[in-house]
Amino acid sequence: MRSYDLVVAGAGMGGLVAAAHAAERGASVVVWEKGDRPGGSMALSSGVIWRHRELESFRAECPHGHPGLQRLVHERLDSDLAWLESLGAPVVARATGNPETSGLRFDPSGLTRALARRAGELRLGRPLEALPDDAPVVLATGGFQGDRALVRQFITPEADSLLLRANPWSTGDGLRFALERGGALSGGVGEFYGRNLPAPPARVAPEQFVSASQLYARHATVTNLRGDPYETRTWSEIDVVQWTARQPSARARYLVRQEALATPVGERTVAEMIASAREAGAQVEHRDGAFVVEVVAGITTTLGGLRIDEQARVADGVYACGADVGGISTGGYSSGLAAALVFGRIAAESALGP
Ligand SMILES: Cc1cc2nc3c(=O)[nH]c(=O)nc-3n(C[C@H](O)[C@H](O)[C@H](O)COP(=O)(O)OP(=O)(O)OC[C@H]3O[C@@H](n4cnc5c(N)ncnc54)[C@H](O)[C@@H]3O)c2cc1C
Repeated sequence: MRSYDLVVAGAGMGGLVAAAHAAERGASVVVWEKGDRPGGSMALSSGVIWRHRELESFRAECPHGHPGLQRLVHERLDSDLAWLESLGAPVVARATGNPETSGLRFDPSGLTRALARRAGELRLGRPLEALPDDAPVVLATGGFQGDRALVRQFITPEADSLLLRANPWSTGDGLRFALERGGALSGGVGEFYGRNLPAPPARVAPEQFVSASQLYARHATVTNLRGDPYETRTWSEIDVVQWTARQPSARARYLVRQEALATPVGERTVAEMIASAREAGAQVEHRDGAFVVEVVAGITTTLGGLRIDEQARVADGVYACGADVGGISTGGYSSGLAAALVFGRIAAESALGP
């Protein structure tokens, strides 16, 4: 029995894109969403959908990712961004603020609304647990960062100390669903994207996930709580947050000298980021002319997950996109929104067939 042409699990970036693409093709689509609102982590994000300017830099920065999947993101992103704009998703900037990358910045609420109104039937507060009929399914449940046991198993023994910098509903449901149906794990299951945040007693609410991020490790001396040092290797600081997550209590200390305070990082200075830590309630010490900020790793999305082929297929009748998929930015960092956009459309196209 088939009541729909396509069933989608998750009304975040990947799921809404897949559903909107399928609906545009004239298919009947139902989207099951576990949370009480559409948008998932996309709605909390900065909304920058980007790619490396050159495919070679993507390969160099994410050396263990699947070359074919990376090429698809690189080649299709610009036309997929034009498609998003054609749906009325509001663009707030035509540059990413990073000379190494190109892309667009969207207003996340407007992006969610533009996609949701084209996504077919949306059922909020309804996790997909079993397939309601024999229609193909696109899994877009947003990764497994919300499940402490999976984070402990695959990422760090310090899982209980990590802060969740994401929607609360992405707990690996897509992963479990697909593995039970013959799906396989990608490489890099221990990798994740996140940001270091001010450590408790600071409190960081979801609307502060962006503004409270402490993104100046490369202008600081970084140590763990035992005093062991770490040298930052990447502009995205993905290596720092992954290192921090594996240190005692998933914490680090950033010592920032006076002369680094005025350094700009994106749209803010180091001093402004330290001020945001203080506003969140962090203890910021001022010692010998330098500031010391204690940070804790915040996990945003897992980067490992399900293995897909270039048609976004996981197993018979099962497709996946977004952070449920691994193997794209393995070894580094690339835009999760971009991968969700590109593979959301590919997943819908493959699931519906020619
Ligand atoms: C603060 C912040 C800033 C960010 N900034 C950027 C940025 O500027 N650029 C960028 O590229 N990326 C950014 N990201 C990451 C980006 O948001 C994610 O990579 C992207 O949203 C992943 O898309 P997704 O569809 O996999 O997950 P989501 O958008 O999180 O959607 C997953 C959805 O699945 C739902 N779900 C979970 N389980 C089930 C189930 N069993 N059944 C049904 N539904 C389920 C969830 O409730 C959620 O709505 C940011 C994230 C955050 C939190």
